[in-house]
Amino acid sequence: MIPTHEIVIEKVKKSKINTIDFDNLTFGKTFTDHMLECTWSNGAWRTAKIKPYGPIQIEPSCKVFHYGQAIFEGMKAFKDAHGEVFLFRPEDNWLRFNESAKRLAMPEVPKEIFIEGLKNLINLDKEWVRYGEGLSLYLRPFMIASENGVAAAPSTEYKFMIIMSPAFAYYKGDVRVVIASEFSRAANGGVGYAKAAGNYAASFYPNNLAIKEGYQQIIWTDAASHEYLEEAGTMNIFVRIGDTLLTAPHNDRILNGVTRRSVIQMAKDHGIPVEERRVSVKELNEAARNGELKEIFGSGTAAVIVPIKGYKHEEFQYELPVDTDSYATKLIKALKDIQYNRAEDRHGWRVQI
Ligand SMILES: *Cc1c(COP(=O)(O)O)cnc(C)c1O
Repeated sequence: MIPTHEIVIEKVKKSKINTIDFDNLTFGKTFTDHMLECTWSNGAWRTAKIKPYGPIQIEPSCKVFHYGQAIFEGMKAFKDAHGEVFLFRPEDNWLRFNESAKRLAMPEVPKEIFIEGLKNLINLDKEWVRYGEGLSLYLRPFMIASENGVAAAPSTEYKFMIIMSPAFAYYKGDVRVVIASEFSRAANGGVGYAKAAGNYAASFYPNNLAIKEGYQQIIWTDAASHEYLEEAGTMNIFVRIGDTLLTAPHNDRILNGVTRRSVIQMAKDHGIPVEERRVSVKELNEAARNGELKEIFGSGTAAVIVPIKGYKHEEFQYELPVDTDSYATKLIKALKDIQYNRAEDRHGWRVQI
């Protein structure tokens, strides 16, 4: 039987893998031998092509440059001790990608192109997935409006692509954050829940201001009142007050993270009380003052879980206690054990390549 979506493969003549210094990688700077490209035109997806990684030709009038129709995903492939390679909950990313596509008036990408494309691509560049603590292959599926012309209307042509970058344990030192009381990342009815490129563009300026003040990230609060915690930079946010783990419920301003969902499930599996509910800045500050605030951490694919060491809200500053028995430590381990095939996969999250 001929599959509905054939993938054509053009291999590199010679792999560049031997020129790569895997011990000194900068996150997201090195790309594997191959990439996937698939064009949508005249209302349909064309044949997906896997070809050597390299520049693409685009005219300056291309719509993505003018109106920002661009979405992406962030995923990882992991290698186990036996050299087998696994994806982590790839269908969740595929579904979210299409949610993002819908919101940005872009065509949805069929599973045969997104998931099978990923699998074919990883298979070809399997050597680029390294085995070892914190090592992985970072996968970046994305879609851009590729029609030429500056009329402000949705593009009639799109490019879906996947590129892949070898990654290692992502540790950027201590993270201290500022709780937003002026800027916002997303608003009601907006695109906050979509992985839209523009959400990042809009966050760089306020984040730079935080960096100038000596902080690394911003905790985003709700745009209307700045009273409730929403996200930790480009991650979802978790707060531990007493023994309870709290996280903001996702809505149209908050990205529904795969790591967030996995952390909630892992916490439940470990008997950690976890609640999805709004957490106010007032509640956070009070818990900090009376010693009940034990942990704050962000969750996301790139860094899994990032413990936050301290925060500032207007005039109030707080340093979190150092806890060797933290939920963060426990949950990082539990998640990584599943990702690297060291633990039973009770929820069916691993997908072998
Ligand atoms: C990607 C992203 C996350 C994390 O999502 P994961 O699926 O866990 O990687 C959280 N917040 C924002 C704003 C994001 O873009």
